[in-house]
Amino acid sequence: MTVTATPIPMLSDNYSWLLKESVSGKVAIVDPAESEPAIAAIEAAGGKLDMILLTHHHADHVDGVPALVAKYHPQVVGNAADAHRLPKLDVAVHEGDSVDFGAAKARVIDTPGHTLGHISYFIADGEILLPGDTMFSMGCGRLFEGTAEDMFRSMAKYEDLPDSTLVCAGHEYTSSNAKFALTVDPDNEALQERAAAVTALRSAGKPTLPVTLGQERATNPFLRAPDAETFRKLRTAKDNF
Ligand code: ZN
Ligand code: FE
Repeated sequence: MTVTATPIPMLSDNYSWLLKESVSGKVAIVDPAESEPAIAAIEAAGGKLDMILLTHHHADHVDGVPALVAKYHPQVVGNAADAHRLPKLDVAVHEGDSVDFGAAKARVIDTPGHTLGHISYFIADGEILLPGDTMFSMGCGRLFEGTAEDMFRSMAKYEDLPDSTLVCAGHEYTSSNAKFALTVDPDNEALQERAAAVTALRSAGKPTLPVTLGQERATNPFLRAPDAETFRKLRTAKDNF
């Protein structure tokens, strides 16, 4: 494992992720909502930034980019299809592309639903999944542009990733997601245990992420939905929760 991922809290409930690749010493940041907390984390990690990975165009995922570009001149990576509404891209990627990150590679997965141009990244060397606002712990993103069917298919693309994959999502929504999940799956013991662990983590002021994909497979009602219609009903119920 050469890549590690550390959450950087931003705004009220966003996480940007600081990635370090130990062979080359390269540093990347994912979805910087703000520049100041990012700069503090980058300086603590050695004072250089090689790459910015973007999952989608929302302000709470890109607003930190201009100041980071001006200070560190990293390569900015994002979806070619959304280049018109993302910060200026140096590397415009497509589904299945692999972006070099030192000795590691970040594979691009198209995951429309939250927005139509939303992408996720998977770094096999470190088993790191960066789902942005597609999947959260015990939840999924709101459907601002895509359909429930789109989102169901997008989350199904995570199916071939190992249980030990670390899910590094874009928001700390875990407590409220757990409350909703318990209403639809009250007898799920893994979910009950995870909900209790989340309460303890949050009262200690700690992030609930990353979480393993195996843990999500046992507890996330959206990932457990057997078909798109069940998924759609769950998403509607959560919107009104
Ligand atoms: Zn978003
Ligand atoms: Fe967001």
